[in-house]
Amino acid sequence: MTSATSAGSTSSGESNGTILWPDWLLADASVPPVAGHGVRIVDGLVDAVGPGDFLAATHPDDTVLELPDRVVLPGFVNAHVHMYGLLSHGIPLDAAPSGFWPFLEDFWWPKVEDRLDHTMIAAAADWACTEMLRSGTTTFLDILEAPNVLPGGLDAQAEAVRRSGMRGILSFEATERSGSEIAAAGLEENQRFVETCRTQSDDDLLSGLISIHTLFTCSDDFVRDAFVRAAELDVLVHAHCNEGVHEGEWCEAHHGHRTLEHYAALGVAGPGFLASQVVHLSEAERRIVADCGVRCSHMPLANGEVGGGIAPIPELLDAGVTVGLGSDGYVNDLYEVMRSAFLIHKARLRDPGVMDAHRVLAMATTGGAAALDLEKVGRLAPGWSADLQVVDSRFPTPVTEANLAEQLVLFRSAQHVEAVMVAGLWRVRDGRVVEVDLEEQRARLHEQALRLWSAS
Ligand SMILES: [Zn+2]
Repeated sequence: MTSATSAGSTSSGESNGTILWPDWLLADASVPPVAGHGVRIVDGLVDAVGPGDFLAATHPDDTVLELPDRVVLPGFVNAHVHMYGLLSHGIPLDAAPSGFWPFLEDFWWPKVEDRLDHTMIAAAADWACTEMLRSGTTTFLDILEAPNVLPGGLDAQAEAVRRSGMRGILSFEATERSGSEIAAAGLEENQRFVETCRTQSDDDLLSGLISIHTLFTCSDDFVRDAFVRAAELDVLVHAHCNEGVHEGEWCEAHHGHRTLEHYAALGVAGPGFLASQVVHLSEAERRIVADCGVRCSHMPLANGEVGGGIAPIPELLDAGVTVGLGSDGYVNDLYEVMRSAFLIHKARLRDPGVMDAHRVLAMATTGGAAALDLEKVGRLAPGWSADLQVVDSRFPTPVTEANLAEQLVLFRSAQHVEAVMVAGLWRVRDGRVVEVDLEEQRARLHEQALRLWSAS
């Protein structure tokens, strides 16, 4: 059975379809799975969803892949990753930073971001895509901050992403922390990349948006410029928002109100704004996020890494806020990120009912796609993109319609992902990322990490 997903392929040129017929289909993360249902794929899109035997009988010329002991579910959307972050994993430090601000000022900026070059970020992008695909992720938003890779840093990453076949949104995190020239070049990089992607062929899976860092590294004029450009390009503006206590306090000291209140005062808090992290929100800020339709992304593991805190995600979801899940370039296996999101809010609120598995899976799929303003991604329904994963469902206890989501969130990891398809093409088969020389990628990343660590 392990070779089942090797037996067939789909491509945009095929007229016949491919039918995946697993034991269980979880077509929409927010509703229960259905036993025996399958999905028919034609030209990179989901054509039909229904009983596997019916799909097979009504399309006799299709390739039918029977997948016993497997569940098919949508590919994950990693709504916030820094692929270059991989280069910092295990970097020697004299001591752990003493808080979020020292994390940035003493470590992340001088020892990671300011040392990056094109060769380093390309090696990291190759490995990050492999790591994400291998753990069921098909779509992601990357945020690159590296003042010395301008211009062209996004193109260096794009080459790697195109090789991987993933659906990627690439952005450069523009900031004034390194001076006005680099700040302007950062916005230009985003704008140019958005425009470049739009001139590519229709089946290009890459796109861009405009990222800025935070209010404590971006002036009002700079923020306004970013939103004006984004409106002209019809893309989102992304910013890190209240990741630690620093930004809210800084805004109160400099603007007399908190971060989201300042975005609202600038007239830019709305559906065109993707605020990542949102760890420390006052009641007023939560209301702004909910009432204005600000999109959010949640990075529970990375918030732990930097000592940031725990974001009020159940409260935001209850208020109807769109929330995606992200790895932040830390642990890039969304199964691990989901596990964290599933558990920490129960602990924080001392209530096991605040975050059920369907809610977590929805953040990892449809929530992420909505946060990134992607259409027809994150669900397996007719006309939606054929972005999916085939996962081993041989749990030690019986699988039921009621427990499959929780079984997946708690007890699956990258090692259980057997196959991954992006836009109708297999990118992982038999647990291996296709056409990737893993050792070559690893050796290259290793070499570039050593260069980063020894740079001064
Ligand atoms: Zn981040």
